[in-house]
Amino acid sequence: MLNALSRLFGKAAPALPDVGAAQWARVEAGLPFLDYLAADDRARLRAMALEFIARKEWHGARGIRLTPDIQLCIGLQACLPVLNLGLDSYRGWVGVIVYPGDFVIPRRLMSEDGVVHEFDDQVAGEAWEGGPVLLSWFDHPEDADGMNVVIHEFAHKLDMLNGVPDGLPPLHESMSRQAWHDAFEPAYADFCARVDDGEQTWIDPYAAEHPAEFFAVASEVFFEAPDLLHAEYPAVYEQLKRFYRQDPLR
Ligand SMILES: [Zn+2]
Repeated sequence: MLNALSRLFGKAAPALPDVGAAQWARVEAGLPFLDYLAADDRARLRAMALEFIARKEWHGARGIRLTPDIQLCIGLQACLPVLNLGLDSYRGWVGVIVYPGDFVIPRRLMSEDGVVHEFDDQVAGEAWEGGPVLLSWFDHPEDADGMNVVIHEFAHKLDMLNGVPDGLPPLHESMSRQAWHDAFEPAYADFCARVDDGEQTWIDPYAAEHPAEFFAVASEVFFEAPDLLHAEYPAVYEQLKRFYRQDPLR
């Protein structure tokens, strides 16, 4: 039916990648934080990842060869946050660009006195409004340590669904902006104060850069180390549980 409809509108449905049991097992072995998913959720995530890989345009930068394992690994992680929101959440842009390791983005910033500063920013990922997601690929990613560049960048994409990323993605009707604000604002203020005090926080101190970064980092921790986020900022955990419609702590 979908194929017939696509032909009717002159565009063939993209062919889904063919993934065998051994490849699923190999790739998912590197993503132990997926273990909280029930069998049927795991099956839905797999199907969504294949759809995501087929629908997006993939580019390897700086000579990296994009293997099916790399695409599958990124696809599974990208789809985890939208498992119960739908792939349509990633509408409006097409590209995924993968770099071998960290990469450098040239920046231009004007300071308050009007002086333009140009510098190279070394990053592990970046999401552009209406544009591609840029990701670093490391051959030996560490185990679930609460940090996840893929989930981070795709959380930014969700935040951008209602404009400039500000840490407030479009909430569901059943949610309250006030409750979101009451959870995130004091948590962000507390976290910034702890980082300013020089505390070695378990949550990535990069979260103190901006409320949008706090949301993206909190989303990483929500999926990779939910017990930690729940222990440190339970109200934030509760809001993310409602937003993502998932409960990784379950
Ligand atoms: Zn970020």
